[in-house]
Amino acid sequence: MAFINENYLKLQAGYLFPEIARRVKAFADARPDVASRIIRCGIGDVTEPLPAACIAALHKAVDEMGVRETFRGYGPEQGYDFLRNAIADNDYKARGVDIDPDEIFVSDGSKCDCGNLLDIFGPGNRVAMMDPVYPVYVDTNVMLGNAGDPDGKGGFDKLTYLPCTAENGFVPELPKEPVDLIYLCYPNNPTGAVATREQLQKWVDFALSCHAVIVYDAAYEAFISSPEIPHSIFEIPGARECAIELRSFSKNGGFTGLRCGFAVIPKTLKGYRRNGETYPFHALWLRNHTTKFNGVAYPVQRAAEALYSPEGKAQVKQLIAFYKENARLLKEALSSVGLLVNGYADASYLWVRGPSGATSWDLFDRILQHANIVTTPGSGFGAAGEGYFRLSAFNSRANIEEACRRLVDPVLFTPFK
Ligand code: PLP
Repeated sequence: MAFINENYLKLQAGYLFPEIARRVKAFADARPDVASRIIRCGIGDVTEPLPAACIAALHKAVDEMGVRETFRGYGPEQGYDFLRNAIADNDYKARGVDIDPDEIFVSDGSKCDCGNLLDIFGPGNRVAMMDPVYPVYVDTNVMLGNAGDPDGKGGFDKLTYLPCTAENGFVPELPKEPVDLIYLCYPNNPTGAVATREQLQKWVDFALSCHAVIVYDAAYEAFISSPEIPHSIFEIPGARECAIELRSFSKNGGFTGLRCGFAVIPKTLKGYRRNGETYPFHALWLRNHTTKFNGVAYPVQRAAEALYSPEGKAQVKQLIAFYKENARLLKEALSSVGLLVNGYADASYLWVRGPSGATSWDLFDRILQHANIVTTPGSGFGAAGEGYFRLSAFNSRANIEEACRRLVDPVLFTPFK
């Protein structure tokens, strides 16, 4: 008799995107006259093609694979040196941050890293989770039994929730009790907020004080324009002793379909054995990666390397500027009808407060029915997201301009009962 992992039966956040899909389909079936007008600003997938530098690198790498002398089979599990060196030089050394290429583990994206990382943490760690939150952090902890049971309010009884509200600028206060594992994500999905150096320093000091580990998700790092905002947790003194950073090429290079990212685990980051001795997480992740993973495809790693070439950098800058202009246009439209809009300045998401009395699903339904625009209800990311909706700026300019025209319709945000 094979037993199932019962923890999977406790998952709930997974209902968000299927529920959105169900409502969109029901609406499209009921209103075939407007089905083709629907604009999807819900899921955060990119829309623009890969930068030309990546395409050239991919073609070249594919050609190399067709010739005996340059063919490559299994590569190093942690990633080729050419890519790890490019990452260390450009993302870290160039910003004055001390990260060795050996501390970088190339992967097939941040989502997998988020889940797989939990393999190297023992059971029973107390986990602190931002609210609202990227659902993958919660669900992967639920799957392992770290989250406890549903608490009846849409959360889990063993998680420590860190509310991110307009009052705290969507950067949470420190928890009252010590915790062992802390998830932070800046620029944030879904709120689009960024954290300042001082705010991150508080978190690093707190993590050091309770020997906790911060998992810092910087998937949207490329969207930071404010010069004072840190791009990496490792810009903060002490972070090498308490943090892991996750990065992705999905949103800067448009690699959502190509799949590549990386995790940074400093050799100075230690965890605890039950006998009180310390042990480096780096050694555990190396063992995990080399045992469970056989590396990212060679052409994909060459394409990622190309993002760091002078042409690649210029093309990424253009792509980011394109999406950020989309975000600015959406922000302008929504502000013009009196809504409070957060995010957008250093992010690809807008986090929008609806009129008072409106739940997130009320807003979702009204915007879908009246404007034929798909949003993401804020409450789907956690209880503190109630009353908000998220708009993604990843879309074509034509769709964004059309969405802006529709969003200024005065009936959309008239008071809800
Ligand atoms: N982290 C955050 C906060 C995200 O929003 C996403 C994707 O939307 C990811 C990680 C996943 O990135 P990847 O495509 O590298 O798996």
